Amino acid sequence: MDRYDIAIIGGGGAGLTAAVYAGRAMRSTVVFEGNVTGGQIATTDVVENFPGFPEGINGFDLAQNMLRQAEKFGATVEYSRVERLDRAGDGTFAVATEAAVYRARAVIVAAGADYNKLGVPGEDEFIGRGVSYCATCDAAFFTGQDVVVVGGGDAAVEEALFTTRYAKTVTIVHRRDTLRASGILQERARANEKIRFAWDTVVERIEGADAVERAVLRNLKTGTVSVMPVSAVFVFIGQVPNSHLLKGLADLDAGGHAIVDLQMATTVPGLFVAGDVRTKAARQLISAAGDGATAAISAEHYLASLG
Ligand code: NAP
Repeated sequence: MDRYDIAIIGGGGAGLTAAVYAGRAMRSTVVFEGNVTGGQIATTDVVENFPGFPEGINGFDLAQNMLRQAEKFGATVEYSRVERLDRAGDGTFAVATEAAVYRARAVIVAAGADYNKLGVPGEDEFIGRGVSYCATCDAAFFTGQDVVVVGGGDAAVEEALFTTRYAKTVTIVHRRDTLRASGILQERARANEKIRFAWDTVVERIEGADAVERAVLRNLKTGTVSVMPVSAVFVFIGQVPNSHLLKGLADLDAGGHAIVDLQMATTVPGLFVAGDVRTKAARQLISAAGDGATAAISAEHYLASLG
């Protein structure tokens, strides 16, 4: 069985930053990543709000830089999904993937969050055929076409702006009449002639033959149902934390986020949580990275206290 001082579950901004710190503390470190390293930023076209890149940086490139930095300081990356996390009687942790069980003296869970779904008819059926949760990945497929973006937060507005590079029109469908997105993004969206808004409106159904052909919309104030011919529905309505490994181990809030203290510590000795999976995170790359640093420093203090 492979043994490490620190096991980090999740190779996004929080996990990779934790790996840099853990590696530099000369602790044997493994990062488990079941998907692509970088997490959400790996599919972000331009990251404009990470300090040090005044012109912005491509998210995938930034993630690759973080990965190289973590590996430079000795972290190992295992490209496997962690299926179980258990604490043994001796206080160490068993981290089980499909293929193997690893032993770690401290664990940092930085598993991030997954996209929320609308839960309407047609959504699952048309995933990959017009329904998408990643404009950066899929917007180019809809060049010259009309598309819908659902949501009113930073993600929805940012991705709507990105989609205007390709689409003929982008209609932001939002359930209220006020955006949650930051002022600068709102300003850019309002100034973009390709962007329209459907306020107080939800998507009721997504329809088509082989691919998305229309969205059926309902105005929540008037009750009016309308059919909008579109080729794509991009959904950005928040996220659910990937905290299932922590169930029964750490305390979770009502939304499933792990409750931690200022040191990113759970109530379980040696178990730390960083990034979008924890409660009250700002859910920014920079704050996820900050959490990762704090969690790794705390894990190091914990290991040092064991002697
Ligand atoms: P968010 O801020 O939670 O916004 C989710 C949006 O979806 C809200 O407008 C919400 O409406 C709407 N919504 C939620 N459930 C819905 C449903 N069932 N049907 C229709 N609409 C629904 O999520 P996010 O935009 O994914 O952002 C998550 C975090 O990442 C935020 O902290 C954000 O600031 C950050 N982020 C930052 C950047 C950046 O700074 N560049 C980019 C992306 C994300 P209500 O407003 O009515 O609740």
